[in-house]
Amino acid sequence: MEAVPTLHRGSCLCGDVSYRVSGVLPDFEVCHCRQCQQAQGGACVVVAPIATSAFEVLTGAERLTAYRASPDKERLFCCRCGSPLFSRRDDSPGVLRLRVGTLDHVGSARVASHAHVASKVDWCEIGDDAPRYPGPRPG
Ligand SMILES: [Zn+2]
Ligand SMILES: [Zn+2]
Repeated sequence: MEAVPTLHRGSCLCGDVSYRVSGVLPDFEVCHCRQCQQAQGGACVVVAPIATSAFEVLTGAERLTAYRASPDKERLFCCRCGSPLFSRRDDSPGVLRLRVGTLDHVGSARVASHAHVASKVDWCEIGDDAPRYPGPRPG
């Protein structure tokens, strides 16, 4: 059977930055670390690890701005509306961690794990049975 090509689109809040991802989305990783709470302004961040080769910025590449909260990782956001879009680590340049809330549709992807639950906020409960790790995800 021939594989059906899959394409996912997304954008920032103002719409200037839009992108597409080809292929089936991997399951999501949730991070409850303090940096992610501050970066998102919420309880946690939900990301999908995507191969850089599967990701294409369609519009607004000039609006993408990088911020380094840690020396080895940059977080990219739209400089007009502030939407966080993805992050990438210097030691794994082939992978970007897409903020899944910016995707229009996610297909059947679900949460695969929760990391840094030691710093999870008390006012928001985890509502799934995915594995939870007090610190970084192992492996
Ligand atoms: Zn924007
Ligand atoms: Zn985090």
